Amino acid sequence: MHLIIAYYQMPDMVSNALGASLYADRYFLTPKKAAPSPSSPRYLGESSTITGRGKVGIPHFCCKEIHFLADCHNAGSEFCYDSCMQNKEISTCLSKSLFIRGLQCHKSLYLHKYHPELRNEVSEEKEALFQTGFEVGKYAQQLFPGGIEIPYDENSYADQIEKTQDEIRKGTKTIYEAAFNYDDIFVKVDILHKDHEGWKIFEVKSLTELKPVYIDDAAIQYYVLNGAGLPVSKVFLAHINNQYVRDGEIDPRGLFTSNDISDSVRQKQPYIADNIAKQKEMLKNDMPDIDIGEYCEKPYECDFQGHCWQHIPQDSVFDLKRKGVNKYDLYRQGIIELKNIPLGHDG
Ligand code: SF4
Repeated sequence: MHLIIAYYQMPDMVSNALGASLYADRYFLTPKKAAPSPSSPRYLGESSTITGRGKVGIPHFCCKEIHFLADCHNAGSEFCYDSCMQNKEISTCLSKSLFIRGLQCHKSLYLHKYHPELRNEVSEEKEALFQTGFEVGKYAQQLFPGGIEIPYDENSYADQIEKTQDEIRKGTKTIYEAAFNYDDIFVKVDILHKDHEGWKIFEVKSLTELKPVYIDDAAIQYYVLNGAGLPVSKVFLAHINNQYVRDGEIDPRGLFTSNDISDSVRQKQPYIADNIAKQKEMLKNDMPDIDIGEYCEKPYECDFQGHCWQHIPQDSVFDLKRKGVNKYDLYRQGIIELKNIPLGHDG
């Protein structure tokens, strides 16, 4: 008998192990970071559940069965959700952040799914921003104290969804990081709170102003929760109150301002559905042929710039500091190097 133990959330390792031992009798999955002890793994299935023996390809595992991806009859269901999210061969599953990435640039979404190795390294500055966002999120939870958190760590996507449903069934009124899936879109809600008006989404942001992309952020959550059968009464954006002056302990009610963005979020629903369909279709095809543009920087600095901008030399039009000059217009006209800017040009 062959025994395979693999670390959860390391799909390559699992795939390689399975690929090397397709005729194993039993398959196990250990929790992330757990010691590979035969006494603690999660049982995945008997060898009889494997379909497509003899085929060449990356074996596909999900909560219940192991198959080749093309044969997966659970494709798109929550059983298959984790592998769908992580599989690099074909995957049209999305998350909130992937969807927002795709709204910015289809190529960025495609590269993130299929060529994550091409991403820029995360800078210390960005890591600090993530950490700040995390800490702000923790403060925001105190707006509705006593809630239950659905953590990322040690939980599969399907487990997080199941735990969220358990809390809803138990009558929990406040859930932090609640997880849902609908239409193969996985979302986590910063704060989900129920009162006499029904369920409310609170999307937390660590900045002081309201940006249009935040409406998209909340609108995809609204789409998924309603689709998953949880009617949402209102959606709020909780962001930092720039008028707040700390006096002693931080007061979360003073630190945050909550804006009701429900109407904007509802109006966005056809746009959200349309863009989900477009992104999924795009992911089934070859990489979209998209040149660099304004969207490389807005609303977020794309982390594939190191890959896509390789052809931009030093001393390019993108180094122009003068306001009112559209660098991308120059670029589209074929003017890339500073020395190529025609004499008398406004730049
Ligand atoms: S760098 Fe620009 S073109 Fe390349 S993936 Fe990012 S947004 Fe798209």
